[in-house]
Amino acid sequence: MSDLFNLDGRVSVITGGNSGIGKGIADALATKGSTIIVAARDEAKTAAAVDDIASRFGVPVSGVSFDVSDKTSIDDGIAKIMEQYGRIDVLVNNAGMNIRKMPQEYKPEEWDIVMNTNLKGAFLCCQAVYPAMKQQGKGKIINIGSMTSLFGIGKALLYACSKMGLLSMTYSLALAWAREGINVNCILPGWIVTPLTTAAQRDLPGLREFVEERTPLGRWGQPNDLAGAAMFLASDASDFITGESLRVDGGWAQHTNTVSFPRP
Ligand code: NDP
Repeated sequence: MSDLFNLDGRVSVITGGNSGIGKGIADALATKGSTIIVAARDEAKTAAAVDDIASRFGVPVSGVSFDVSDKTSIDDGIAKIMEQYGRIDVLVNNAGMNIRKMPQEYKPEEWDIVMNTNLKGAFLCCQAVYPAMKQQGKGKIINIGSMTSLFGIGKALLYACSKMGLLSMTYSLALAWAREGINVNCILPGWIVTPLTTAAQRDLPGLREFVEERTPLGRWGQPNDLAGAAMFLASDASDFITGESLRVDGGWAQHTNTVSFPRP
């Protein structure tokens, strides 16, 4: 059987691909031969990620200045990618942010900031790549959810609402676009070491130890722990899978669902 995970000739767009989980996924898809487009706001970070991917994996790679909270920026970015490469095979909706507060402390505009980035932004990116994927008769959309796609969290309500929404969006898009050959799936990471969670560790003393203790596999994840799931959902290996979510969480969610004493 030929390599089901091969991505030679495919074009993958990773929003927020210049940092953390997005960079880990960009690296993973590059190892399978995909052309990589890093789509994010900070041009210096994007240029560094592009150089790193080009030198380590030797695949075509470019950066696009891209703000998922701005529809014009999304549409312009996707148009540039189509002009340069003529196709988009994989969209990874990874760009995300969090405002950590108790629910009673949020300002109304903070609702918009989080939702516009994490949920509306991802939706607008799906809409923007749809014509290309429909025309190709094939496409893979991978949404990056979270454990908060499954569970609430007291001090990150807006983030949790956005990530549950992303899972719901995955289900609906999968149904709507299945006959067009577009697979829409969601990865649900557990606690992964990135700039986002470094900030969380600063805000929440004891978090590092708590996660190590409570995660059945006994450690935080690293961005490259997402590699296998991303390769799978981006490649032909997942052609008969859509509307699915895949936890990459060291067992975190399973631990929640079971009475696990003594500890595994
Ligand atoms: P990072 O802070 O390292 O990365 C966030 C990325 O999103 C950056 O590349 C940033 O680039 C980009 N980004 C933020 N806002 C925008 C925007 N408006 N437009 C375009 N890009 C944007 O965090 P992580 O790697 O941890 O997070 C990546 C994703 O994984 C997020 O969706 C997060 O919710 C999710 N996740 C993370 C977990 C973890 O434990 N780390 C667990 C579960 C989910 P730039 O600033 O240049 O725009």
